[in-house]
Amino acid sequence: MQTTRDDLEPAVRIRDLKRDRVNFVLENVDLAFANSLRRVMMADLPTIAIDLVEIQANTTVLPDEFIAHRLGMIPLVSSNCDEGMRYNRDCTCMAACRYCSVQLRLDVACHNNETMDITSNHLEVYEGVDYEDVGEGEAGDEPTKRGEYFGHPVGKNDPDVAPVLICKIRKGQELKLRCIAKKGIAKEHAKWSPCSAVSFEYDPHNKLRHTTHWFETDERAEWPLGDNASEEEKPRDDEPFDFNAQPNKFYFEVETDGSLGPQEVVMQGLAELQSKLAKLVIALKKTEPGMLPGERADEAAPADAWGGAGSGWGGGESGGSGANVSGSGWGNTSPNRGAATGGWGTGGGWTSPQQTGAAGWSV
Ligand SMILES: [Zn+2]
Repeated sequence: MQTTRDDLEPAVRIRDLKRDRVNFVLENVDLAFANSLRRVMMADLPTIAIDLVEIQANTTVLPDEFIAHRLGMIPLVSSNCDEGMRYNRDCTCMAACRYCSVQLRLDVACHNNETMDITSNHLEVYEGVDYEDVGEGEAGDEPTKRGEYFGHPVGKNDPDVAPVLICKIRKGQELKLRCIAKKGIAKEHAKWSPCSAVSFEYDPHNKLRHTTHWFETDERAEWPLGDNASEEEKPRDDEPFDFNAQPNKFYFEVETDGSLGPQEVVMQGLAELQSKLAKLVIALKKTEPGMLPGERADEAAPADAWGGAGSGWGGGESGGSGANVSGSGWGNTSPNRGAATGGWGTGGGWTSPQQTGAAGWSV
């Protein structure tokens, strides 16, 4: 069969699409690209999640920090979050405003003898202006770009979706609090990941021998083939090993937590990858004589030639510090933020500066 240009172009075939998951086959790309897409979908797409919690009353059995952490992990509807919201750190407001945050409230008390569940369905989005540091950010059209139910807990009041349990209370106990949800990405904290699982398989017959199947007596009996094996030709028993073979067909399964739909995750993942590469290309174009091997160092380009690449990668997602510094009484729901001695947050440079900037009684 003659190879045509179409055979070499990347191709996507969707095998299954549901409300919270998509299964597709990606062809004619290499392993590095498939893995980049997987990682971008997991860690680089903005969503909103509860970031600050002010506990007004808590007589439950769980401590404030515990509840704050549980609130942070609740998925919130984030459709078109990329355009519908600013990063709090980029906003010109004093602490939080309607362009960079969504406020949620919870006020539940138990008055009867049965144990009561406090769930994500009790969280209400508060539309009014109620921020201590009044001083809204520069006017913008972000709120008009938000999808329906933006900021609401995923599945709220949908009988088909079980709510997230926050705490259980008995008679006489209550929980009252305010939360501020902000935009972020999962590189900062996993609570901002739109995906609960992203995986791909390639080479289901293991022709490339990228893995070793440990077995007792019979490899084929103990490692049954998965569904994807029917997509590819079975190797002959006497087929010689091809040292030059490369994987080029990848079977993706993307499952979201409901904050973004699966289409939005895949499309935005590709767009994000494209923009990262574009930034790299622009930065590389700034390279001047002297930067390349074999050229004289004294002809070196200005310091920002490669520095541009650095800021290109990190900028946008992790720039700016102090985003989480807040008024007293506000706790931070991110467990790693307060850890000044933690390995991740201390380096500066590549790591996110926010992670060391926590105030108050961070969890
Ligand atoms: Zn703001």
